Amino acid sequence: MTEKFVMLTFDLEEFDIPEEYGQTVSEYDQMNVTLSGMERLLKVLEKHQINATFFTTGNFARYNSSLIKKLAEKHEIASHAMYHSPTHDFKESDIEESMLVLKSITGKDVSGFRMPRLRSFDRSKLSGMGIRYSSSTNPTYLPGRYNSLDKNPLPAMQDGMMELPCSTVPVFRFPLFWLSFKNLPTGLYNSLCRITLNSRKNLMLYYHPWEFADIGDYKLPGYVKSPDGEKLTSKLELLIQSLLAQGATFVTCSKFIGN
Ligand SMILES: [Zn+2]
Repeated sequence: MTEKFVMLTFDLEEFDIPEEYGQTVSEYDQMNVTLSGMERLLKVLEKHQINATFFTTGNFARYNSSLIKKLAEKHEIASHAMYHSPTHDFKESDIEESMLVLKSITGKDVSGFRMPRLRSFDRSKLSGMGIRYSSSTNPTYLPGRYNSLDKNPLPAMQDGMMELPCSTVPVFRFPLFWLSFKNLPTGLYNSLCRITLNSRKNLMLYYHPWEFADIGDYKLPGYVKSPDGEKLTSKLELLIQSLLAQGATFVTCSKFIGN
């Protein structure tokens, strides 16, 4: 039987999404919302002994270095650039700077990168920086955000490194990302994951720690903020149980590309 691999990945970043909807959140609160989501999330990962991948901004890591150091003992720490907010102009040098920040905290080389908000960027220099894989595409059509239907939906070599796209349902390209996880009925989302895993033998899933915090009072559209907190944590628990029942092996991204 071929092994089935699941990459559970999280963008460990400042809770800056209210800015997109015109609400300012202090940096202190941005960090704290993410930290409270992390507490819930880590309990679930520990319970099932899952090694996940955390795409971490250099800025978040600097503020929370002891957490990052501890996480790196079990999980993979990859780069999510220096800053998440679009109010910081992204520079290519941010990628290298974030890699240095993360390495100085964990003592480990950074081998993966995900672009904040999956914006398009010049990928050509990544492999020269020592990046072995990127996970910066959602090969689907999201009205008002991006149309990436021309992108390869499977993990593949591109620009001298591996691209690990967010998983989409075969043929239909329905994205199995955080918004679907949150908004679809649990049973339906879990079966779409099962169908995709059975067909592709791998799944790349991505969520955010702040989704597991209580964010109901922020001015965000319902489909972005709810369910949150304990409710969403229970959904994650059921998803993991369903994938384990399928015989899935949870691996970090660098372990997956090593295979
Ligand atoms: Zn992000």
